[in-house]
Amino acid sequence: MNLKKKVVTRTKQIQFKGIPAAPGIAIAKAHIFGTEEIMPREHKLEDKEVPKEIERFKEALKQTKREIIAIEKRISKEIGIEHGKIFNAHLLVLEDSVLVQEVIAKLKKRKKNIESVFANVLNRYINVLSEASDEYLRDRISDITDVGRRILRNLSGAEEKSLEELKEESIVVAYDLSPSDTAMMHKGHVLGFITDIGGRTSHTAIMAKSLEIPAVVGLEVITDVVKNGDYIIVDGIHGVVVVNPTKKILAKYREEKKRYEVLEHELVELKTLPSQTLDGKKVIVAGNIELPEDVVSVLSHGAQGIGLYRTEYFYMNRRDLPDEEEQFNAYKSVAMRIKSECVVVRTLDLGGDKFLSQLDIPKEMNPFLGWRAIRYCLARPAVFKTQLRAILRASVYGNLKLMYPMISGVGEFRQANVLLEEAKNELREKNIPFNDKISVGAMIEVPSAAITSDVLAKEADFFSIGTNDLIQYLLAVDRVNEKIAYLYEPTHPAVLSLIKAVIDNGHKEGIPVALCGEMAGDVSLTMILLGLGLDEFSTSPIAVPEIKKIIRSVSFKEAKEIAEKALEFTTGKKVQDFARNKLRKIVPEMATNFE
Ligand code: PEP
Ligand code: MG
Repeated sequence: MNLKKKVVTRTKQIQFKGIPAAPGIAIAKAHIFGTEEIMPREHKLEDKEVPKEIERFKEALKQTKREIIAIEKRISKEIGIEHGKIFNAHLLVLEDSVLVQEVIAKLKKRKKNIESVFANVLNRYINVLSEASDEYLRDRISDITDVGRRILRNLSGAEEKSLEELKEESIVVAYDLSPSDTAMMHKGHVLGFITDIGGRTSHTAIMAKSLEIPAVVGLEVITDVVKNGDYIIVDGIHGVVVVNPTKKILAKYREEKKRYEVLEHELVELKTLPSQTLDGKKVIVAGNIELPEDVVSVLSHGAQGIGLYRTEYFYMNRRDLPDEEEQFNAYKSVAMRIKSECVVVRTLDLGGDKFLSQLDIPKEMNPFLGWRAIRYCLARPAVFKTQLRAILRASVYGNLKLMYPMISGVGEFRQANVLLEEAKNELREKNIPFNDKISVGAMIEVPSAAITSDVLAKEADFFSIGTNDLIQYLLAVDRVNEKIAYLYEPTHPAVLSLIKAVIDNGHKEGIPVALCGEMAGDVSLTMILLGLGLDEFSTSPIAVPEIKKIIRSVSFKEAKEIAEKALEFTTGKKVQDFARNKLRKIVPEMATNFE
């Protein structure tokens, strides 16, 4: 995941690239929202005023608590309990006796108005947290700031400014948005929002997805550039923001918006239709998820289960490791919500571009070639088996499968299975039920595994090709290095012929082969992958309807001919042109992405 942002072009209009937080396209004028500093004026108190000031503080705390509980109730009812729970963290800040006692002690000592004393303590907390190297601690800043602003507003008696009251349809532009600001958007005139900070797993981003408000976060400098009333395009699908677009770009995005909305409509119809070719070959189109919350999107986009549940995000944004019980509850809830469809849980794949502060991984020269994924898990059996036991326990609540990342050969696959057997025995000893026949697959994302996939296929229950890594290792192109991004070619003949070999080797042993890298969501390549015999596409849920539509628009016979032809080309560029032309002919409405 590349989190580097930059200004892409700078002509009359300005275009930014950030992190897509919620899909869709929104076009409207900018409304700059609340970035006021927490620094009220200070004044001296007389001795006799101190007790009254403490009372005022306690009353403001009570009022804030009432407000937060009311918001929590409202959000839980209107948006969902999991979003309401976010406000528990806010209540914890309020109930933090160390903070409250420190404020009272400073008030007694300095004899200054409570607003200034409180703001002073609050800003010190925020400064300390912003220096923390721990991501979990830094993420607490937004909780503390949100509660702090509320307390200061209650002390001043000012009215609450809410996005709910916005009079005109707008794009909200903010340095950051607290979950409570975001929660107020659903009934107002907010068409989209963009922020300087935030990642795709921030509460604000998660809530934006549930509210279906297009959003791009992590734009770093957007509040320095945009002024109230500027015209803004938010492309929450690709993470692009255009400020004051030219007529041509505006027209392009209006078209793109229409296309997206038409597709969203079609989605309702596609949702219940099978993903099968014109001549009746059925394939699975599943969704990739990173968080249990993403299940909502899997279901609403008509994905057939989950082909890749990336569990490492579960380990992020926190100080400790998730224990077995906590993981079990998360996997169980995903399994139960997906019901009879499959959920492929991938075991911990940290390292590379995904670091966790609480694990003992030293900095490496070549992290993508280093101590990552299954290599780490085999060296840290206690961490690995905790996760395996949690997955096994959850397996009785749905149709769970297990998959190991970064397998480089059959030896590693066997070693992982030894630990799986140990985890099973540990559960047996305690009489804890699990599905003894749980399917165990190998991700094929290291070239050595792809080349020896004939051997691996005899031992694995299924394959899932991880093209994000397979392409970087096969072509020696770092997947997050923008300078060499032009060399990162999913259509390179070496990539296509290796994918074909993996599919053929899997089928020779009678096991299904899925593909779960970004390539599975590339509409121009769907027909080629289908023709190569792929059994399952697993992609970001928003791409599911498009992939399904293409599958339903072509016969398997024709797809096979397309794939055969694609394998004959000598360069990736030629394959790409050929694939796009075919799509233009067969499903023209899907071909607009690369015009
Ligand atoms: C892949 O490598 O293709 C893959 C799906 O895994 P990740 O992107 O999490 O490395
Ligand atoms: Mg990978």
